[in-house]
Amino acid sequence: MCGIIAYTGNQNALPILLDGLKRLEYRGYDSTGLSILSRKRIKTVKAAGKLNVLESKLAKPIIGHCGIGHTRWATHGAPTDENAHPHTDPTQRFAVVHNGIIENVDALKATLKDSDTYTSETDSEVIAHLLANHKGELVDAVREVVGAIVGTYGLAVIDQQNPDTIVVARNGSPVILGVCDGAMLAASDMSALSRHTNQIVHLDDGEIAQLTPAGFQVLRLDSSVADKKAITLDNLNSHYDRGGHPHYLYKEIVDQPDTVQQTLSGRLDDRFSTAHLGGLNLEPRDLIGIKRVTLLGCGSALYAAMAGANMIESLARIPVVAEPAAEFRYRNPVIEKDTLYIVVSQSGETFDTLAALREVRRKGGFVLGVVNSVGSTIAREVDGGIYMHAGPEVSVASTKAYSSMLVSFALLALLLGRSRDTSPQQGSRHINDLKQLPDNILKVLELEPEIAKIANKYKKRQSAFFVGRTNGFPIALEGAQKLKEISYIHAEAYPASELKHGPLALVTEKTPCIVILPNDDLLAKSISTMEEIKARGGPVIALTNAQSTPDDRINKLADEVIRVPDSGELTLPAVMGVALQLLAYHSAVSLGRDVDQPRNLAKSVTVE
Ligand code: GLU
Repeated sequence: MCGIIAYTGNQNALPILLDGLKRLEYRGYDSTGLSILSRKRIKTVKAAGKLNVLESKLAKPIIGHCGIGHTRWATHGAPTDENAHPHTDPTQRFAVVHNGIIENVDALKATLKDSDTYTSETDSEVIAHLLANHKGELVDAVREVVGAIVGTYGLAVIDQQNPDTIVVARNGSPVILGVCDGAMLAASDMSALSRHTNQIVHLDDGEIAQLTPAGFQVLRLDSSVADKKAITLDNLNSHYDRGGHPHYLYKEIVDQPDTVQQTLSGRLDDRFSTAHLGGLNLEPRDLIGIKRVTLLGCGSALYAAMAGANMIESLARIPVVAEPAAEFRYRNPVIEKDTLYIVVSQSGETFDTLAALREVRRKGGFVLGVVNSVGSTIAREVDGGIYMHAGPEVSVASTKAYSSMLVSFALLALLLGRSRDTSPQQGSRHINDLKQLPDNILKVLELEPEIAKIANKYKKRQSAFFVGRTNGFPIALEGAQKLKEISYIHAEAYPASELKHGPLALVTEKTPCIVILPNDDLLAKSISTMEEIKARGGPVIALTNAQSTPDDRINKLADEVIRVPDSGELTLPAVMGVALQLLAYHSAVSLGRDVDQPRNLAKSVTVE
């Protein structure tokens, strides 16, 4: 989704801006553009379409050391050259790039009486026009203009009369500063900064920053100075490098033995057979007071939360629900003192999840976050939480972050379980299971050739069903999600028991059904589901951790069997999840899809 990059320093801005835009591409966009201060004038080039269209318009390079760039994801006006950002005021003094939506754009335009001077249909252009109406310092002008905006913005402005200064501002749409020696950058996403620096400053809502090659200063809307220090993020750049793999998605799948290990690292407590989670900010006495848990997320984070709900409920014996964050927020939820609320987001910027978090906190609820991106907005606004430590995830479809969400929930389930119903013996069995997880994922990765063969065999089918019972259901949901996201094969997940209440009408020899068969008390019932499907001629792909069954029933019934290592209830969703990721990946590759940037989707969804 929309991206911003800005640079001021002693190097030529153009290649830095183009490289930044390239690194923002994975988020999805429809047009691009940039403005550079060159020989005391602002030069702007912009184009609808992909970055190569913009590059083709830049045959003659623009020389200058200060500039801003944008990838647009249109909300107001079609993706055309005119609507692409940056936007300028009629005198070409200011250029602005903007992420977000200005809700009171008409009212703002009405204050200016210059309606015949607009060159685009965007809401964003008004910012440049408003700036032109102000006298005084650039940073004060931006502060006053953003103070009048109702809506969301992450923005960057350059000014012909302040040749090496950039002013950025944030409200509801991320802006991150990158501090370099003799240069400053700003971007909406870490990926665009990682090549240049690991010194990062996250702006908060209502903050404005002035950047010059010598450094930065952050102000609040009331013009008070905010004392912000840069944090150092390690090893940032390696995550944005495909490391010889054909796709980021593939790299992120095969990295999972390491990334789940990072999530586990230092968090297993053998002595008391529990988990050690320092960031929760909850004392044992608080844990014992929790009567209910509500988990909130969107997309794969929601499916991880649904699996997490099963884990926590099973080990801690307290009621747990997982809900889509946006639905929760809009239904005027009842917030209770003794309920623990947990929001889940890879990026920590997902707008719907952030809004749900704010709603709960506004009503006095205690909220934890399960977040990957260190220092992100959600991470900063929660009362405590668990960092996944999976490293930045670049591919739009989540894989390693999803697994690390599951591991985070497993750790939380263990902690809550051991503060209540789970015995030390059970606790240490779960710990062994978790210690085994990286190896078990490695074993699933070794199944890749046979999973690829299955993907190839069924790739021409237009629809697929994923079914599972209780613990198997969230696994089915995420399996279907992965397949539809990247291969565009229509995929639906159902609880296995629901099949006969409707969807069975669609099962024919043309609809492969992926049946999730956890080796638990319900295995025999799940095998009956395979019978139901086979009786309607549907091809069955069985995914199981049962190493053998009486009469070899799974092998006899299923057309294909993917057998993953035996794993306990805390790790099975991650182990099976990796097999389903490989199935989706190979389906997508064999269909020639754009695996890392699936159509219509964006990485972190920062709009409502
Ligand atoms: N609302 C602005 C537009 O439509 C910004 C969109 C974006 O966030 O990229 O141009």
